[in-house]
Amino acid sequence: MTDTTRNPLLDPWQTPFGLPPFELVRPAHFAPAFAYAMRMHAAEVDAIAEGREPPTFANTLAALDRSGRELGRIERLFFNLTASETSTELQAVEREMSPRLAAHHSAIHLRPGLFDRIDALHEGKSTLGLDREQLRLLERVHLDFVRAGARLSGTARARYAAIIERLAELTTRFSQNVLADEAGYRLVLRNERDLAGLPEGLRSAAREAALARGEADVWVFTLSRSLIVPFLTYSDRRDLREQAFNAWVRRGENAGEHDNRPIAREILALRNEQARLHGYPHYAAYALVDRMAGTPKAVAALLEQVWEPAKARAAVERDTLGAMARAQGETHPIEPWDWRYYAEKARKARYGFDDAALKPYLTLERMLAAAFDTAHRLFGIRFVERPEVRTYHPDVRTFEVRDRDDRQVGVFLSDNFARPTKRGGAWMSLYRPQSRVDGETLPIVVNNNNFAKAPAGQPTLLSADDVRTLFHEFGHGLHGLLSQVTYERLSGTQVLRDFVELPSQIFEHWAFEPAVLQRHALHHATGRPVPEELIAKLKEARRFNQGFEAVEYTACALVDMALHARADPDGVDISEFERAELERIGMPREIVLRHRLPHFGHLFASSGYAAGYYVYMWAEVLDADGYDAFVEAGDAFDPAVALRLLRYVYSSGGTLDPAAAFRAFRGRDPVVGPMLAQRGLVDERQPA
Ligand SMILES: [Zn+2]
Repeated sequence: MTDTTRNPLLDPWQTPFGLPPFELVRPAHFAPAFAYAMRMHAAEVDAIAEGREPPTFANTLAALDRSGRELGRIERLFFNLTASETSTELQAVEREMSPRLAAHHSAIHLRPGLFDRIDALHEGKSTLGLDREQLRLLERVHLDFVRAGARLSGTARARYAAIIERLAELTTRFSQNVLADEAGYRLVLRNERDLAGLPEGLRSAAREAALARGEADVWVFTLSRSLIVPFLTYSDRRDLREQAFNAWVRRGENAGEHDNRPIAREILALRNEQARLHGYPHYAAYALVDRMAGTPKAVAALLEQVWEPAKARAAVERDTLGAMARAQGETHPIEPWDWRYYAEKARKARYGFDDAALKPYLTLERMLAAAFDTAHRLFGIRFVERPEVRTYHPDVRTFEVRDRDDRQVGVFLSDNFARPTKRGGAWMSLYRPQSRVDGETLPIVVNNNNFAKAPAGQPTLLSADDVRTLFHEFGHGLHGLLSQVTYERLSGTQVLRDFVELPSQIFEHWAFEPAVLQRHALHHATGRPVPEELIAKLKEARRFNQGFEAVEYTACALVDMALHARADPDGVDISEFERAELERIGMPREIVLRHRLPHFGHLFASSGYAAGYYVYMWAEVLDADGYDAFVEAGDAFDPAVALRLLRYVYSSGGTLDPAAAFRAFRGRDPVVGPMLAQRGLVDERQPA
């Protein structure tokens, strides 16, 4: 390459902490860099597969774990950018590259000769003198290859590769369509009459959203959750609530070029075929083999314990809301676009709790500090901001993470604000996973949120829900940052899907610990700590609307399992399936799925959570019971419990069997009771 054609992706990254050279990278650099890195990876794997020596752990498993580093760092950068700061150019590269990358990884798994070596090692695993982590790596990699079709032969093998490639194309389209529908909608408010009921903080967030879209003197609501949910909660304008609600729940379901229905149908048909090639009757059975739950039956047993009590509770809540509406002189029944509005009014009346009264104490700045401080008190690490580091967007903040002995353990990027170029939701991701197989490699972790940014000069204020999300993603972040394993395949969050939400969900508990709030929830103007009675009211008020929340979540998990347990090889019309399934399970008509199928990214934007939306509740059993260990110790920061949590959960990555890891942390197997109690689903005497 001459200097004029140098590709910064392929040069050594001479940057602070080995971060990507964000400022030098252009969308056009990716395709050639991917092509080169895929060739390198294939050559590394060829050398392993064609090795003349008989297979050993070192020349096969460890070598495989070290291969593809160049490709991995480019892929992580690329998919982080397409999620957090995309563009039309990047989206075009994504449509082109996603199927090609999937085909590449599929070809590695199906490379002749490679699986034979892994399989031979697996056959003789007890004679190899492997330590616990090495044995675990062998088990996981062997299963990865089997699940990727390495045991298939002939036409089945070729067909399998074609399915994987096509699925990558379809899932990319699915998420781009949702983003297009979200970016394409705006509710423009022009005067005081339109704004009726909206609190000041929400108005300024809507002002900011308008400015970001080049509109002055109006207020704009987009379909971003952090704007639309508060709008539905506070707006007195029933007509506007209905209009916005309908746009929100129909993302991905609009006829035309962004219609996700035909895409989902084809995805389902292909997944069904994929499962059958493996000898399973449907996709759910295939997916559950690689989970803690093990079978669809075990998932059903958990969800059934929640579904009927949740509906019963939601019915009581609905009656409370109906009474609230009638007291205000309304005669209409409660519709889905009314629920949040009257729930907020009823909550205020019953508990004297007002989310807007709490918000001034919950600045983003201080709540981030609260998350850092909690990690410090539990695990001894410190977060040191490095403001001089430039990333892909000026709003992203970079922190160096240091341990008790002041050694660097990783880097944390904090990307908190919604913008049109970022996909919705909140998530943790990696730029570099921790490992030691190639020398000490420190993790680079990113947390993404979609908080509405305050106007310049004003602090961004969070709702209690936002704080919970911040802590949730930070818990995932810690899982990546605290990882202490040798092999990349077992690093950090590389655990079974129904275990991965334990580190995130258990961390949410500290967000609402009085000890944490008293120290960090300081009023943005006066600096005074949040009053104790407001915390007490918050705790009480959080029990409210639990029926609604359990219904909107559990119904999603039930629909997901039913959808992926179909033996029908032709897929299905997802809108019609959703309607029929909700009728069958008795979904309350006033509540809509938390994620309707046409925009259910967990299921269709990748395959990670397909037949797997239940994992949040599965992990909730673990986190509620797990947090009780601190309650029983009488200290939210009990050092002995914290050390076990660090050792067996946050630092062990995928090196332990998850059931054994939980047992080692808790001293016994998990029980369901604390989760049901946390959701208020066991004690019928609780008021709605
Ligand atoms: Zn999560």
